[in-house]
Amino acid sequence: METTGKETFRDSIGTINEEGKRAWVYPKKPSGRFYKYRKWVSYSLLIFLFSAPFIKINGNQFLLFNVLERRFNIFGAPFWPQDFHLFVISMIIGIVFIILFTVAFGRIFCGWICPQTIFMELVFRRIEYWIEGDRGKQIRLDKQPWNINKIRKRLTKWILFFIISFLIANVFLAYLIGSDQLIKYITDGPLIHVSTLISLLIFTAVFYFVFAWFREQVCIIACPYGRLQGVLLDSKSIVVAYDYKRGEKEIGRAKFKKNENRSTSGKGDCIDCFQCVHVCPTGIDIRNGTQLECVNCTACIDACDHMMESVNLPKGLIRYASEENIAKKAKFTFTPRLKGYSAVLLILTGIFLGMSFLRNDVEATILRLPGQLYEHKGDNIISNVYTYKLVNKTTLDIENIHFELLSHTGKIEIVTHKNFSVPGQGLAEGTLFIEINNAALTGDKNRLKIGLYSKDKLIETTTTAFLGPRSYR
Ligand code: SF4
Ligand code: SF4
Repeated sequence: METTGKETFRDSIGTINEEGKRAWVYPKKPSGRFYKYRKWVSYSLLIFLFSAPFIKINGNQFLLFNVLERRFNIFGAPFWPQDFHLFVISMIIGIVFIILFTVAFGRIFCGWICPQTIFMELVFRRIEYWIEGDRGKQIRLDKQPWNINKIRKRLTKWILFFIISFLIANVFLAYLIGSDQLIKYITDGPLIHVSTLISLLIFTAVFYFVFAWFREQVCIIACPYGRLQGVLLDSKSIVVAYDYKRGEKEIGRAKFKKNENRSTSGKGDCIDCFQCVHVCPTGIDIRNGTQLECVNCTACIDACDHMMESVNLPKGLIRYASEENIAKKAKFTFTPRLKGYSAVLLILTGIFLGMSFLRNDVEATILRLPGQLYEHKGDNIISNVYTYKLVNKTTLDIENIHFELLSHTGKIEIVTHKNFSVPGQGLAEGTLFIEINNAALTGDKNRLKIGLYSKDKLIETTTTAFLGPRSYR
């Protein structure tokens, strides 16, 4: 159905004009309580994002996503191809987390945590305000013909944008190939690693394109999470919302008039100042209701609170609330549903963190040599032959390794050597014999528990099968 007039927002995107061209958004510089909190959160997350690839735990990079070599570190715990099941579980937990979080708390992630919003609003946009000034000045600068002043401002902005994009590309590469490798490439000099330099420049160009030109279109058009909002949000989800009951009342919004008693005139509390629209980085009018474009950045809350304060009306005309809160004029409460979802989210986070932290640095597999039966040795000793494989998931060498039987009294003999080492991120394979007195066995099939020691420290335990003669006792 075609919509007209005030309803056009329903079938059009705020950043596309009537001719179908991009309507450039010049958001007013936000200020206020939420913006202050967002700055704290954003700059803390930026410090984390930039430092995580350079932090090491037991020699492992804190976060690493080396897709090419299939090596992933999460919170310093390495995930190898052998850990694929854990990786799948963590992905499932991640998806459930995102769905529950969005159903309960709407697009809070987009406004507070998403790197796109943080870089765009708290880094690139702030540089733009610093060089070109606030909304009005930016519009005027855009319209004015090219002169020395405009060239100087635009060049400074583009150069700074390029430098920051280049920095982001370097950090992005550190997540992909590892910070040690990146530092090596830098110290070797870019000309020795031309292919890496080209990749780096391609990443830089992508980031520059996104933050200098594509901007809010990422959230509106490209981001799959943003597109999911329509199916995930419901009337109980907490979103940035305009209180239309209070804002419109009986005769709707109207401009502010000094000394007028709005509560008796029937006019809504919205003074139609358009500050919430001017400040919006996705170019929408939140008074039209929850829209696909809204990234919950809270800029309109701050802008409206400021206006309400200046006309002596209560703050919170735009606030975090669910559609139901507003329709029933109810105050925000932590409902049983929100409590339930939060508990599930906490449990999932706990499981994920537990899985990451409780993993072993070494994986040992000891398997009986296929097709081999047991062997009788002298003095009632039974012997089985095995192959072993040790994977060292850390970047440090594990030295002086030997095996010990933990569940039975017996002997483990490694073929060719006694103690050996496994290099960091390497593996060791070989053959070993296990000898146990028949009297200690409980039948033809026995389960053995074996300890793996580095020097005298137990670093991993594993189990394997041991065959013996059938027991007729
Ligand atoms: S409507 Fe408000 S919260 Fe949503 S993107 Fe615009 S300014 Fe941010
Ligand atoms: S900032 Fe508040 S008062 Fe001004 S137009 Fe928006 S909702 Fe109405």
